[in-house]
Amino acid sequence: MEPYGDCIYCGGEVVEEVRSVDYRIEGQLYIIQNVPAGVCRQCGEMFFTAETAHRMEAAVTQPAGPLNTVPVPVVAIK
Ligand SMILES: [Zn+2]
Repeated sequence: MEPYGDCIYCGGEVVEEVRSVDYRIEGQLYIIQNVPAGVCRQCGEMFFTAETAHRMEAAVTQPAGPLNTVPVPVVAIK
């Protein structure tokens, strides 16, 4: 079964991998680990099933809070 189909951007093959995903909600950046994501072999774009998107949203809003917090370096192009 192939839940992702081909990449909507480049038509490349999309293969499921478990990734850490940057997720931004209400200005706050989260890193979500162990996310099953469809990754385009050609352009690297990531896709999520509706169920996974739902589980990611639930993960960032869980009352227990984050497992860990890490500092994120901010840089700019000069
Ligand atoms: Zn692609």
